[in-house]
Amino acid sequence: MYLQCSDRRCSTVLDIHDRSLSCRRCGNLLEVAFEPELRDWPGLKRIWWERRVSGVPLDRSGIWRFREFLPDLYRPEEVVTLEEGNVPLLSAPRSAAYAGLKNLRFKHLGWNPTGSFKDGGMTVAITHAKYLGVTQVACASTGNTAASMAAYAARAGISARVYLPQGAISKAKLAQSVDYGAEIVQVEGNFDSVLEHLLRTAGGEAYFLNSINPFRIEGQKIFILGLMEQVDWNPPDYIVLPGGNLGNASAFGKALDELKATNLIGKVPRMVVVQAEGANPFVRTWRSGTESLQVLSEPRTAASAIRIGAPRSWKKALRALQFTDGMCLDVSEAEIAEAKATIGREGVGCEPASATTLAGIRKLIWQGQLDRDADVVAILTGHMLKDPDYVIRMRESSVGDLASRRST
Ligand SMILES: *Cc1c(COP(=O)(O)O)cnc(C)c1O
Ligand SMILES: [Zn+2]
Repeated sequence: MYLQCSDRRCSTVLDIHDRSLSCRRCGNLLEVAFEPELRDWPGLKRIWWERRVSGVPLDRSGIWRFREFLPDLYRPEEVVTLEEGNVPLLSAPRSAAYAGLKNLRFKHLGWNPTGSFKDGGMTVAITHAKYLGVTQVACASTGNTAASMAAYAARAGISARVYLPQGAISKAKLAQSVDYGAEIVQVEGNFDSVLEHLLRTAGGEAYFLNSINPFRIEGQKIFILGLMEQVDWNPPDYIVLPGGNLGNASAFGKALDELKATNLIGKVPRMVVVQAEGANPFVRTWRSGTESLQVLSEPRTAASAIRIGAPRSWKKALRALQFTDGMCLDVSEAEIAEAKATIGREGVGCEPASATTLAGIRKLIWQGQLDRDADVVAILTGHMLKDPDYVIRMRESSVGDLASRRST
């Protein structure tokens, strides 16, 4: 096992213990690479299934249960876990009808220990940090990465420092970081400038846990294995997810690539990435047909988790869309709000960024780009309680509208 440059035209390879986050030769992000090794991959499906009823902490985690797809560096007692990853795949008939689909399911990653998918990556990245002997970790965040890092760092006894854009994150997310004992640094500016500031000043000794960290990607990758197990290894036609810094899209692409290469799945689902219209650098880049990122200096959307103008993992995400024959699109603020209310009425709920998925699916059906019969899984990325102010704001601005819909 080793680290390699994520640009396949560059042959840079680094030792797995290297703390770099980008290639010294070309500047692209790094990724974890496994030695090709012959294994009884189909036999693993049974082992993974049997671990579900095990009492061993490592088996009880919905991430570490699939550890054959994770770095094999750590001793079991070293692993930092909160039994993350065990989240349901929910049928969503009302949302399906709203979008015009026959069949839609939600994989709710907001039902992880700290309320977002960040936990899937953080259990691996904090375990790796502990393995490396790191004593301080840091990240820039719109709130969820910070909350997750703070929780896992606390479990590991590592001190955590989170850099947040002042006044631009939800109170609920801020409260989590405070509660888990992280040091909070509020910085003037938006997420992009905070991350830029952090990377430039290098934060002293701290180990960085933004999604440019390749070990976070390894953990988030596993949600796709969990999903495939839930559908008995019959992949859906589409997997739809929101795109912010594009770490998750990169992780899911890597998972699909590795599952196909090991023949654990026969068909690769098409990946659809959805952004908000006011924060759509990836969509603009995709449309431009060029290989240069169309940065937005002032991204705008009420969905604060995806208010990002210069996504760091865009090249990895682009490769994932190409590999899966995927698409990307953007949706308006009104479309996000309406989709979010629909998911709420389903009895499920999610944070605003997650609702871009349903809004995107509806738009694709209207545009004739998605078949009504398609088997679609949408990824809900964050818990409803992450941003209660949004819900109250929407209700106050459209009381009559909501009330009339409720009575139908
Ligand atoms: C982090 C996050 C996103 C964006 O994910 P990326 O990997 O940055 O694209 C979307 N929704 C929620 C709730 C998040 O916490
Ligand atoms: Zn390189």
